[in-house]
Amino acid sequence: MKSKEVIDILDNFIPNPRCELNYTKDYELLIATLLSAQSTDKRVNEVTKILFSNYDIFSLSKASLDDIEKIIYPVGTYKRKAEYIKEVCQSLIDNYNGIVPNNREYLESLPGIGRKTTNVVLSLLYDVPTMPVDTHVARVSKRLNLVNINDDVNIIEEKLMKFFPKKSWNRVHHQLVLFGRYTCKSKNPQCLECPFQKKCKINEGK
Ligand code: SF4
Repeated sequence: MKSKEVIDILDNFIPNPRCELNYTKDYELLIATLLSAQSTDKRVNEVTKILFSNYDIFSLSKASLDDIEKIIYPVGTYKRKAEYIKEVCQSLIDNYNGIVPNNREYLESLPGIGRKTTNVVLSLLYDVPTMPVDTHVARVSKRLNLVNINDDVNIIEEKLMKFFPKKSWNRVHHQLVLFGRYTCKSKNPQCLECPFQKKCKINEGK
């Protein structure tokens, strides 16, 4: 498939893609994305609803680990994530007056914040063209034959950035996430309603 074909199909199937994490402030997006590792957006939204209504960035940096852990427990690896949240909030306060900066190097240096989280945050807050690769993007890209089955997330990111025009990256990223979350699911993909059915590796030869 050519990139235009993939983009046209995605635009038709998912015309209004958006991030499904709830946030109203820049640091809330950063924390919600941090919490989403090995969890679901639905679960993250449930805990951040409580977390962000009880704390702002300043009180979070000073909150006890115990209190944060009790709230974020449902997202998993909550002990480590509670530590990350406190450290991230304190660092933002110390270095950027509590603002999440448009600074990739700094963001990637924060505890619990990797390349994927940085990509998500920069694209949503500053409209920086990025191609964050999560489990959905990786799976869908492999099934659609856009990348090789054994490619790791860094290679997948590189290949997708080469394949799709830069101006489409942010939109395509959200579309691939939503497509993987609701249609091309890991188990039990909804192939009968899939617009890529004839192009898909899984259905090759059928
Ligand atoms: Fe995914 Fe099925 Fe569509 Fe293939 S046909 S891309 S496995 S939903």
